[in-house]
Amino acid sequence: MKDYLRFLKFLKPHLWILALAIICMVLSSAMGGASLGMIIPVVDNILAGKTIDISSSHTIPEFLVSFIDKINAVPKVQLLNWLIIIIALIFLIKELFLFFQTYFMAKLGQSVLRDVRIVIYKKLLELSNDFYANTKIGELVSRITFDVGIIVNSITQGLTDLLLQPIQLVVYLAILISIKVYFSISWTLVLVTVAIFPVMAYPVVKIGKKLRQISTNTQESMSDINSSLFETIYGIGIVKSFGAEKYQTAKFRIYNNRYFKMLMKSVKRIALISPVGELVGVLCMAIVLWFGGKEVVQGRLSAGAFVAFLAALLSLIKPFKTLSRLYGINLQAVAAITRVYKILDEEPSVKDAPGATELRSFKDKIEFKDVGFSYTKDSPVLKNINIKLSKGDVLAIVGLSGAGKSTLVSLLPRFYNTDKGSILIDGRDIKDFSLDSLRAHIGIVTQETILFNDTIRNNIAFGKTDIDMDKVIAAAKAANAHSFIMKMPKGYETSIGDRGIRISGGEKQRLAIARALFKDPPILILDEATSQLDSESERLVQEAIDRLMANRTVFVIAHRLSTVEHADSIAVIEGRKILESGTHKELLQHAGIYKRLYEMQFKPARG
Ligand code: ADP
Repeated sequence: MKDYLRFLKFLKPHLWILALAIICMVLSSAMGGASLGMIIPVVDNILAGKTIDISSSHTIPEFLVSFIDKINAVPKVQLLNWLIIIIALIFLIKELFLFFQTYFMAKLGQSVLRDVRIVIYKKLLELSNDFYANTKIGELVSRITFDVGIIVNSITQGLTDLLLQPIQLVVYLAILISIKVYFSISWTLVLVTVAIFPVMAYPVVKIGKKLRQISTNTQESMSDINSSLFETIYGIGIVKSFGAEKYQTAKFRIYNNRYFKMLMKSVKRIALISPVGELVGVLCMAIVLWFGGKEVVQGRLSAGAFVAFLAALLSLIKPFKTLSRLYGINLQAVAAITRVYKILDEEPSVKDAPGATELRSFKDKIEFKDVGFSYTKDSPVLKNINIKLSKGDVLAIVGLSGAGKSTLVSLLPRFYNTDKGSILIDGRDIKDFSLDSLRAHIGIVTQETILFNDTIRNNIAFGKTDIDMDKVIAAAKAANAHSFIMKMPKGYETSIGDRGIRISGGEKQRLAIARALFKDPPILILDEATSQLDSESERLVQEAIDRLMANRTVFVIAHRLSTVEHADSIAVIEGRKILESGTHKELLQHAGIYKRLYEMQFKPARG
């Protein structure tokens, strides 16, 4: 509930739309009330051929008396003409305001939706890697689409009802009371109608409640069907190879039948609601008609007043029904808002320290001092890591899969904060620098090449808006990417997502290298690809990488022999620590773990 109130701040910038909508609601409801009032002259003066007869037992405002006298004095045919024109006008105005009310409320909802989406999106960009490691992507996507949708629905529909229905209640009640007061409706009739109300509502409410419960179960049952379907489609190969078609079908049949039965249950109730509601309604009306009709027949009550009274009464039912339904909508919205705030309240674990300064240039060296790190408490991934790398040097990091190589390099751009020790650039702790300025000095090329659904040019100059095309082309040329880009239908303006654009693995890698070359950072983190390319492609990629590495300080997770051979130093990670370090030659002489790794991992790769 607290979150719900907090959420109202999203409405604040759009309060004027809300105000306009409320004005429209009041006016359309007032017109609705006026249309009910018109029943009296239509029935009494035109249909019954009498005059409007107001009770004389109450003091009635002078203007009303003279107004009614005037109506009574107008010749019938002329009155009919007037009444038809007035009723048409009333409905015209009512529907016009109804249109604007719907329009404004939808505008309010959609404006809030737009604002919330961008706030969540920004938050997602702000959050650190550990958040993503612990959150399912599907969950996040459903927050920003599904939950936000529910919230907006609760505004456009829920808030409308919350405002509109009470207004209508007031209008119809006012009409009821004035009819009671001015047209001497007996207390018996009032009490009978009031007593009959709950009787009329009971069966519909009862069935509705049951229906809601069934619908929750139906939804769960549907998600069983969906996940069974997904499982099968994704794992079709496995299902077939294990000959599990029958087994899966049997399982699916159970879900399918369960859903069918559940749905039929709700169909039965949906089909029941209207006949039962109507039957009970007619019964109740019959009772009211019996009491009221008697009074009309005995001349104690005017027919017009009685019909208007009934109409106002029937009009009251809808606001009551809608308000009771509102609770359900709001419960859903509160749950969705709470889920959205769980993301919005998430604090990024990596952020600028207060008073962080800019890293302006990298001049001298990078040091890891006694660095320790763990993803989860009590299970350290890295311990006592000490590295010293002079500007321009290449450090090759080797180790078995899962040893912690990627983790180690991800600490430098502060994707995660170190738990122990510190990382220094030119003698200053990287935590003292602003994240932006630190990351501006570091380029990263990973095995997994991520291209964005944008033009080749924008993929290379990623994140920049004012793009120097010569620089892009120079980067692409150095990355051996220029010639295949030029073969594409629109060259650098070709969009990655365009139909028919096929980019091979090697080409993707060269685009990623071009992106890093364009950024031209002094420090480079490189995760060499392990995937096998054909030898021509391999040569083009290797050439591009060599150009990328030139004149940079490089941390390379090495999978190639040539990389480790030419590295200025090699760090061998095993058992959470740097077990050995030195040059290729030194380490081979040492005849320790590097030698073993070398024989296992690197040497055979060359054949
Ligand atoms: P390498 O790059 O040498 O293959 P990683 O640095 O990827 O090794 O992983 C080192 C260890 O940390 C592994 O045991 C891995 O399971 C674990 N690990 C990697 N990423 C995460 C993460 N986001 N959350 C928790 N544990 C992780």
